[in-house]
Amino acid sequence: MKKHNFSAGPCILPQEVLQQASQAVINFNNSNLSLIEISHRSKDFVAVMDKAIALVKELLNLPEGYSVLFLQGGASTQFLMTALNLLKTDGKAAYINTGAWSDKAIKEAKKLGDINVIASSDDKNFSYIPKGYTVPTDVDYLHFTSNNTIFGTQFQEFPEVHGDSLLVCDMSSDIFSRQFDASKFDLIYAGAQKNMGPAGATLVIVKDEILNKTGREIPTMLDYTTHIKKESMFNTPPVFPIYVSMLTLEWLKKNGGVEWIEKVNTAKAELLYNEIDRNPLFKGAAAVEDRSKMNVTFVLTDESKQEAFDKLWNDAGINGLKGHRSVGGYRASIYNALPLESVQVLVDAMQKLA
Ligand SMILES: *Cc1c(COP(=O)(O)O)cnc(C)c1O
Repeated sequence: MKKHNFSAGPCILPQEVLQQASQAVINFNNSNLSLIEISHRSKDFVAVMDKAIALVKELLNLPEGYSVLFLQGGASTQFLMTALNLLKTDGKAAYINTGAWSDKAIKEAKKLGDINVIASSDDKNFSYIPKGYTVPTDVDYLHFTSNNTIFGTQFQEFPEVHGDSLLVCDMSSDIFSRQFDASKFDLIYAGAQKNMGPAGATLVIVKDEILNKTGREIPTMLDYTTHIKKESMFNTPPVFPIYVSMLTLEWLKKNGGVEWIEKVNTAKAELLYNEIDRNPLFKGAAAVEDRSKMNVTFVLTDESKQEAFDKLWNDAGINGLKGHRSVGGYRASIYNALPLESVQVLVDAMQKLA
């Protein structure tokens, strides 16, 4: 029987998508060829790319003027690429530091220019989202991480920028999980492996008019313009991750889109947080008002119960519950494809412990 997969990433994908994908590896579209042995320029694969891009635009309600790219190098390459493409040679940028991933983005950007960390929650091990900061008016862009995969915090309201400043967001672990106004953003990036597909593809959504304004020479592969001009086919794209992403987005659309999944995700999060708050043996690790609906971090109030609890959830067929080493305790990643029933199995294990 399939395990209840709470893995933080790579993570659970819809079972029907895994079935379709494995079929396509053997015989794609009844061509008697595998998806992964045909040209990325073949009619059949170009149709996959076009469909994936169209689904991103439709599901996020993207207005005109944005390009959708599927790149390689993970979200981690975007830490550098965003700065290379958006930070003027004599410019500056603002960053909000909400944990390990933001921190890495800041380190990369600092190699290129004047980076101003305008808010940080590192004083409390990133257990909350900073508030009450002022976004400077003279920065090229503001960068933030919408959901903090490791610490279990999530922006409930997005920061706003002023004047010509751009808004840039790493949405790796919560894109397609809730409705938001994409038109407020100038650039969004996300590694596929949390809510969209397997590792190996990175989604970039970029407003065309913001590019080519830095005054800097950008290496070809790191220049968004290269990939926009060639529709993500400048070099061989990661065909399999793009195909599986397309299937996952089709699955999302078929079931009712982001509006539907947001309701499901809210129900899953409520079920689990209610148990954490009700059960005296557990305690949430993140500030209540900033709790993530994707990664639920919690600890035991009585460490001596750890062995018993670990046995209970292992016996219940649960996978991937161990917390990140920098937080400890437990982390239940309840991404889009994780069914409510799996959360119920976890809640049952928590109740059995009591
Ligand atoms: C996982 C993750 C990353 C890193 O993604 P890679 O594709 O491994 O580079 C970056 N940001 C966030 C928020 C993540 O969850």
